[in-house]
Amino acid sequence: MLIDTHCHLDFKDFDGDRDEVIERAGKAGVAKIINVGSSVEGSRRALELAGIYDMVYATLGVHPHEAKTVTDKVINDFRSLAKDKKVVAIGEVGLDYFRNLSPRDEQVAAFRKFIALALDLDRPMIFHSREAKDDILAILKEERGTGIRGVMHCFSEDADFLKECLDLGLFVSFTCNITFKNAEALRKVARLVPVERLLLETDAPFLAPQEFRGSRNEPAYLALLVEQWSKLLNLSKEDVARITTHNANSLFALGLDEKARIAYQIRDSLYLNITNRCTNRCDFCIRDRTAFVKGHNLKLEKEPSVDDILKAVGDPGKYREVVFCGYGESTVRLDVVKTAARELKKKGALAIRIVTNGHGDLINSRPIAKELFGLVDSVSVSLNVDTEQNYTRICRPEFGQAAYARILDFIKACVANNIETEVTCLDLPGVDVGKCEEAARNLGASFRMRSYGVVG
Ligand code: SF4
Repeated sequence: MLIDTHCHLDFKDFDGDRDEVIERAGKAGVAKIINVGSSVEGSRRALELAGIYDMVYATLGVHPHEAKTVTDKVINDFRSLAKDKKVVAIGEVGLDYFRNLSPRDEQVAAFRKFIALALDLDRPMIFHSREAKDDILAILKEERGTGIRGVMHCFSEDADFLKECLDLGLFVSFTCNITFKNAEALRKVARLVPVERLLLETDAPFLAPQEFRGSRNEPAYLALLVEQWSKLLNLSKEDVARITTHNANSLFALGLDEKARIAYQIRDSLYLNITNRCTNRCDFCIRDRTAFVKGHNLKLEKEPSVDDILKAVGDPGKYREVVFCGYGESTVRLDVVKTAARELKKKGALAIRIVTNGHGDLINSRPIAKELFGLVDSVSVSLNVDTEQNYTRICRPEFGQAAYARILDFIKACVANNIETEVTCLDLPGVDVGKCEEAARNLGASFRMRSYGVVG
């Protein structure tokens, strides 16, 4: 199910067939539509529509072109309107120096009033920036740490601006203009977006996708945008849909998927989440920040039995590989891993892999590589860093300094037992990735560098 996080169904362009447009959106898999207010009257109308259609939500804002209309009375009226549960954000607001339809100082003054309102109401914001990136960044940086959050909508700037927005913790959304034939430069920037920070938007009635270019855009076309993002980010369409829907639900407080996953698919691999326990406490572990990986809730209520795991997998032959990974260290349940792997092989699993912190020998008080042979085709060992000192400091293993050397022993034993072995290292500051790679190669393993902050 998809969420169109930015469209303007209140515009007169939809007066003739609004019901049909919303019905078509539903049939195309759009579960929720955020109707973004872009004027005083438009915001009121957005809220009216949210009252009529269950799937429609509203935001309150005034486009910078109309900055002069943003009086204290408007702000107070919006404060009252925002009591309605269907008001999910303040926006679209910001700065537009492309057409300069309002003087810049008035735009800045209005923008600051909306920021104060959003902070007061504790609501996310929808930002509009056109040819105004320096000023908008300066204001947002001033507000850093205040609890300000939101999305830079209709992103159309360069990679530097994208990085600044991401560093500020913002989400970004691009409209259907990334599907345009001549939008290669924008697509190049789009490829840099971490999917965890991406929202989908049509900005309808504007910017219809390439197939309908020149005609009115509408939320049902979101599916074409998903197809484009799937190509740009090398993810399946299901992945893009699930992750962006989770992102939108999270930013706009629209209700998260609470059901924890034992088995979860990303691209054509199936991952198994069999425990939330781990023998490390890595500084960078995302478990401290979120229960979600690529839109899947991995916070288990209880550890699954082998039967639970097999039931959650279904037919393992449908996937390129089945991976014991999840939100913890699976070798703390070595017997479960071995039994489940054996059964999955019997049921036709094409390949089985374990992603591990390499503590298996320490956890089970014996060398375990030999026991994995025949059940597990490959292991990915998260060595993460280059030295024992860095490992102890950054990964904080419960086994103390002994851990690093024992991980290297485990890697060596996996190679010796003919298990395809990969070592991964993170591009953390102060870590000599070359040294990490050399250690992996010397042990007979392959090497892969992972980017800090990218999971799954
Ligand atoms: S090894 Fe993985 S799961 Fe364990 S603390 Fe580190 S990042 Fe988190």
